[in-house]
Amino acid sequence: MALALVTSPVLCYHRIGGPLELGVTRVGRSTFARQMTALARAGWRTMTLEEFALGPEPQAPGPFLLTFDDGYASLADHAYPVLADLGFTATTFLITDFVGKTNTWDVRYTWKRLQHLGWNEVETWQARGFSFASHGATHRRLTWLPDRAVEAELTTSRRILIQRLGPAAGRAISYPFGAVDTRVAGHARAAGYDLGFGGVKGAADPLRLARVPVYSWDVGTLPIGLRSDWIGRAGRVAAHVANRCAVGTSVLLGLGPIQKTSRPPESAADA
Ligand SMILES: [Zn+2]
Repeated sequence: MALALVTSPVLCYHRIGGPLELGVTRVGRSTFARQMTALARAGWRTMTLEEFALGPEPQAPGPFLLTFDDGYASLADHAYPVLADLGFTATTFLITDFVGKTNTWDVRYTWKRLQHLGWNEVETWQARGFSFASHGATHRRLTWLPDRAVEAELTTSRRILIQRLGPAAGRAISYPFGAVDTRVAGHARAAGYDLGFGGVKGAADPLRLARVPVYSWDVGTLPIGLRSDWIGRAGRVAAHVANRCAVGTSVLLGLGPIQKTSRPPESAADA
């Protein structure tokens, strides 16, 4: 059983608003706005990736890292404006080969092909204090790839991000599907990343950080999963669900107007 590295909490979302889907990674805009507003009113605040890298701040309510995987264009329509109004920021992990293009990699979950953020939008929101980082070049599951292909995914995406957005964009990666092991983490380190985010289970390695499952947030009251003992709580709960932060998103989606009885589904779409 690997120990988790102690960090500030990391919350993970995928898609906000836009068309409904077969998968479980979409959260409605009004739901998202309600969640974020409740957290802001309770005294929570977001932190930049740079602040996160400095180490944990254990008090609650306190800072947390808000992350989005995949970089869908709907973030700019439905999520970023909500966050900006609250004075929040976020870190979005982009699939560099798909920036400005339509999705071809999880069509089976979404029914229709979805647009990804373009570089102009990314640059606009970066200028407003939002962070961007890597989610690989083509959204392949790195743990299933041979060494050379893993290196290509990691180095290509990082190079493109640095070219377009500057060195800070080459600092972190969110592994597609949350899939990371010792080998992949070693490749990420060698490629130049400082921080790597997987699923709900982390390891004592900054290249294998966990993200707090969303279902541990009691939004609107006390976010019990984020108290000083959040690592222990999240770790215990995480043992019962799939190793994908997407699962948490689905449960929070299922919560709707704050219920406490939702049960995590056993299967989930992309993370
Ligand atoms: Zn993804």
